[in-house]
Amino acid sequence: MSDTIFDRIIRREIPADIVFEDEHLIGFRDIAPQAPVHVLFVPKTPIARLNDLTPAHAEIVGRLAVAAADFAKQEGFAEDGYRIVMNCNEHGGQTVFQIHLHLLAGAPLGRFGTSK
Ligand code: 5GP
Repeated sequence: MSDTIFDRIIRREIPADIVFEDEHLIGFRDIAPQAPVHVLFVPKTPIARLNDLTPAHAEIVGRLAVAAADFAKQEGFAEDGYRIVMNCNEHGGQTVFQIHLHLLAGAPLGRFGTSK
């Protein structure tokens, strides 16, 4: 059974600054923000890694992007712009093994790529 820190946030066993929730997803602010706005959108369906996705997951992955875009519009930074990121495994920097989408915004974010 999946039991990541995000499952515990979904079950309200640990606190989080929750900004969005519906029957499919939860969205909450990252505990260590990498931009002025840094929100994580997480499916309630357990899926450890992007590598575990199948076509049956297409709708839930789409819901992550729609929720992020809706949040950007609601919060007023959609036209300034933002970035969404999903990390997979070691080289991607994944540390929590429940898939999630990072929404980063609130300032120019610069380029991205390797840290070297
Ligand atoms: P990953 O590195 O797996 O792509 O992203 C995991 C993210 O979860 C990190 O940005 C990290 O700061 C965030 N995170 C880890 N533990 C917690 C927590 O307990 N609460 C919240 N709100 N974010 C967390």
